[in-house]
This record gives sequence, C-alpha cells and structure tokens, in this order.
Amino acid sequence: MTETKIGAKIIDGKGFAAKLRARVTTETARLKTDHGIVPGLAAVLVGKDLASQVYVRNKNKQTVDAGMNSLGETLPVDTSGKDLLAEIDKLNTDPAVHGILVQLPLPDQIDPHAVIDAINPAKDVDGFHLRNVGLLATRRGGMVPCTPLGCLMMLEDRLGDLTGLNAVIVGRSNIVGKPMAQLLLSANCTVTIAHSRTADLPAICQSADILVAAVGRPQMIKGDWIKPGATVIDVGINRVPAAEEGKTRLVGDVAFDEAIDIAGAITPVPGGVGPMTIACLLRNTLIAACQQNDIDVPDI
Ligand code: NDP
Repeated sequence: MTETKIGAKIIDGKGFAAKLRARVTTETARLKTDHGIVPGLAAVLVGKDLASQVYVRNKNKQTVDAGMNSLGETLPVDTSGKDLLAEIDKLNTDPAVHGILVQLPLPDQIDPHAVIDAINPAKDVDGFHLRNVGLLATRRGGMVPCTPLGCLMMLEDRLGDLTGLNAVIVGRSNIVGKPMAQLLLSANCTVTIAHSRTADLPAICQSADILVAAVGRPQMIKGDWIKPGATVIDVGINRVPAAEEGKTRLVGDVAFDEAIDIAGAITPVPGGVGPMTIACLLRNTLIAACQQNDIDVPDI
C-alpha cells in the first residue's frame, strides 16, 4: 500500500487533540477575562509508579499550557486510605479546585472505590463517581470519562452520524469499555461488549463496523479479525521489547501492520487515543469550572 493511502487511513489523535486543546485554551482565556475565573485541576498521585508519574507530568504541563492552574499532590506510597480521604475532602472544599483526578492504580492498602466515591461528583473530571456513571447510563449528562469521550469524538469526526453501525468493544472495564459502550449506545450504534470469557472473539470482531480495543494485550487483535473497511480505535498501551537491544516501544492491542491493510481507518499507538485523553480531561475541567460558577458552558 502507498504512503498516501496509509496516511489517509490513520486517525491523527495527536492533531485532533491539539485542536481540542486550542479550543479549550481559548475558552479558558475567555473565562478569565469575562469572569475572573481560572480553572484549577488537582491531580493526586500516591507513590512513584513510573507510568503514572509520566502521565501526571504530561497532564500538569498541558494544564498550565491551556491557561489553567495545575494543583494537587504526590503522597507517599504508604499513605493510608484515611489520609487520602482527608486530602480529597480538602480538595472538595477548595474553591480554587474545579477538577480532581486521583491517579489509578492506588497502592493495595487503599480501597479505590471508597476514594472515587468521596470525590465531589461536580469535580469528578474523570467521570468515575457513581453519580456520573448513573447519569451517563441514563443519558442525563454528567462528567464523561475522558478516554471513551476522546474515542467518540474521533469516531464522529471520521464517520459523522454513527446511527445503525455495529460497534464491538473488546474490554469491559469501568474506565474504558463500559462507558465506551454507553456512549456508542447513545449514538445509536448496536453495541456488543466482549471480554476474556467471550466465545469466538474473532467472529464477534468481524461483525464490527466500529471496533474498539481496550484490553491491555499487545497486538492481540489480528488483521483477519477486522471487517474490511471497519474503523478501528486502539485504546491499548503496551510496552514491548524493541528491535534494538535493551530498548522498549509502545504498541496497541491491535496488530497495526496487519490491520492497516484491511481497516477503513485506524488510530495508531502512540499518537491515537492517548493524546485525546488529556485533551478531554482539560475540556471536562473547563466545563466543571463553568458549572460550579453558574456560567454557560461553551460548546467545545
Ligand atoms: P482492564 O485491565 O481494566 O480491562 C481489560 C479488559 O480486557 C477486561 O474487561 C478483560 O476481560 C479484557 N480482556 C483481557 N484479556 C482478554 C482476552 N484475551 N480476550 C478478550 N478480552 C480480554 O484495562 P483498561 O480498560 O483499564 O485498559 C485497557 C487498555 O487500555 C490498557 O492497555 C491500558 O493501558 C489502556 N488505556 C489507555 C488509555 C489511553 O489514554 N490511551 C486510558 C486507559 C487505558 P475480563 O473483564 O473478562 O477480565
């Protein structure tokens, strides 16, 4: 296949995210000028997990670049659940904090559900609180989880109206798979959720006009599992050994080199879903800041 044809098939998440961040930056500046409000996003990290540190550092930089305040703390790895809840309580009542993100996974001594339940739902910019989960499931608004929201935006940008399309989501996590299913259902897709106990996964995948892979297994989804022309969104981020001795590289859950010949369009890893997640986090923080101050939410 020629370079141009390949380029046309790749969904440029990095470029899409840059455009979304630019819109968020413009609206953030407007909020400051018109109302004197600077959105504040607090990230709480417990311990020193390397991948989490990288994510939080990226997020901090992009928050500041968008004109927002980047707040929050890194707590020691042996922090108790009680102490973390006290920190959340402090952020819940701090008027300078409009969005709270608790970086997952948390160390074993902390119950993640108790922590998520403790976040003020209005500040839950990750959309994981039970209230926001319920609002999404009943199509009543609320904060939408960032990764699936970014996937939906890219799908609608590529395909327009999704009505009637068969969507298969591989993965049923609370963070990606399930909210992705809710969003695609609301967009009038016919939705199938597959998981580790699904029988004949290749055949299920072959029925998909839209295939979302959120598994966490490197290149598990093969080219011949993909329906010709399907739109493939690869959420997976897996680190594998690179050709060069001692080095690693990132790959998705889809065998990209096989899929590119068959899919109609596909997100690359890296440069696909990942950048959209942080862009959507900034979008949600801006919306949260508007809502908490009874200001009309911009259309972004
Ligand atoms: P989880 O581990 O929480 O969920 C994985 C899901 O995949 C589970 O539902 C599991 O099924 C399913 N699964 C595992 N093995 C198989 C298999 N052999 N066949 C079919 N299904 C299988 O992961 P997350 O949802 O949190 O993340 C998924 C991937 O997305 C990871 O690579 C993660 O790093 C990445 N990610 C990327 C983000 C981004 O911004 N790009 C953000 C969040 C995640 P079961 O329920 O039966 O166990």
